[in-house]
Amino acid sequence: MNTRTVTVAVSAIGELRKAYERIIRGAKRLEIELTIAGFRPKWETKRELAKRRVTTVLDDDNKAVDQSTSVFTMEVVDVDLDVPEVGATGGAWRVAATIGRVYGEAANGENDVYSRDQELITRFRSAALECEHCRCNRRRVRTIVCREVATGRLKQVGVECGVFYVGDTEKEVRGLEFQELVHVLISPFEDEVMAFEKEGRASAGRAAEAFDAVEAVAFVLKVMEEDGGYSPSKTKPQNEWEEPQPNPNATWRTVLRRMQWNSRPKEPSEEVRARAALNPWDEQDPVLREALRNKVEMAREDIENWQAAVKEWEAKQPTAEQRAKAVEILTWLAGAEAGTEPDDFMANLKAVFEPGWVSSKRLAFGACVAATYERAMRKAAEAANPPTAPAPEGRVGVEGEIIALKWVESDFGAVHKMTVRLASRAKVYCSVPTEIHSPRVGDTIRFKATFTRSDRDPFFAFGKVPNLWDGEEKKPKRRAKAAVVAQEGVML
Ligand SMILES: [Zn+2]
Repeated sequence: MNTRTVTVAVSAIGELRKAYERIIRGAKRLEIELTIAGFRPKWETKRELAKRRVTTVLDDDNKAVDQSTSVFTMEVVDVDLDVPEVGATGGAWRVAATIGRVYGEAANGENDVYSRDQELITRFRSAALECEHCRCNRRRVRTIVCREVATGRLKQVGVECGVFYVGDTEKEVRGLEFQELVHVLISPFEDEVMAFEKEGRASAGRAAEAFDAVEAVAFVLKVMEEDGGYSPSKTKPQNEWEEPQPNPNATWRTVLRRMQWNSRPKEPSEEVRARAALNPWDEQDPVLREALRNKVEMAREDIENWQAAVKEWEAKQPTAEQRAKAVEILTWLAGAEAGTEPDDFMANLKAVFEPGWVSSKRLAFGACVAATYERAMRKAAEAANPPTAPAPEGRVGVEGEIIALKWVESDFGAVHKMTVRLASRAKVYCSVPTEIHSPRVGDTIRFKATFTRSDRDPFFAFGKVPNLWDGEEKKPKRRAKAAVVAQEGVML
């Protein structure tokens, strides 16, 4: 059994598997045991190939007016395939090709040559079908070309005489056909990857557009700023009661769409500009003046429309600050520490941005970088400025800023949880009090809960049974009054 490693597009894996199933059936006909276990994608080798493609924009006269460069990527993976070694009977000769005579008008005097070797196909396409062994001249429909293993010498022989060279001719021929089947089924997958590496072309859906890393992060920042929080993947709430998490208008898809519709409106031509600058009143003839006036007005309108479009386009672009922040984030990422585990988040994040561009397929992951940066900066700031007092303990009222919110699934349904930073910079984690319906990160909250300090971190506590709190301790006097009212049996 030979192991053949092929590099294929990740999106073609399903098709390759189907092709391999056909190879299994082909092997069965040769009475060779082959199973799907022989099909082994090596996912650890998954990677992106990138190709820069230059597009030239031509005007109506085929004159190059603009050139744009884009990067396309293709996700590929290596796959190990077990392929039986057939025809290797150990003899001195092997079948190198089979030649069949084609009859009928369509034949055009050509043979049907079946071989892995293109040179043999060419050589025997119009050759006479003869047996070099017995030199017996008769009308043949098929011959085989045998190759001596040691010398590479070729000999065309009739099927009967083939027995002297390769033993069981039929089996040899079937083996050759099987090898051809394997080749025909597998090579298109390899060819596709090679074509991409050469020209950047791939069949539909296999190549992804890639964006400059700084641009991608700048667009993420813009989307976050304009549409609120950023949700890496989720586009809508799973349940009707659920708040969007955190915003359906700010996902990686929003970022992708914005970047894809990002070409600057085309400038009006020089002719249009020149026409707009004309003065119709210079024209003496009133008829010509009127005609000219219309032309000038149309040209001016074209320019106005273009200016409006540019303005609209500019509003959709990240600001200079956002671009600068993007550079800051990527510089931080390049120098950040990462783990060595294969699925280490930081290592993956670094790998995504390392080439200087992000493919649209990895944008969902890559866009997390802004949030990761914020978190790292916050941690660094916290480390530089530790809490001044331990987290609360027991049932007490606290006040602080909500710094994080999330829904947590429990046996009793989903619970909205919040992390609150107190004035002392200690943090507490607790359910959102039921009185609050739409909490937001950044809100100040006053609530009372029963707190238990974390074993590992004295500046962190878990809260239970939270209630909104007005900031004042209830006075015992009021409680006494309530008791009296109850005694008298007055219904309020
Ligand atoms: Zn012969």
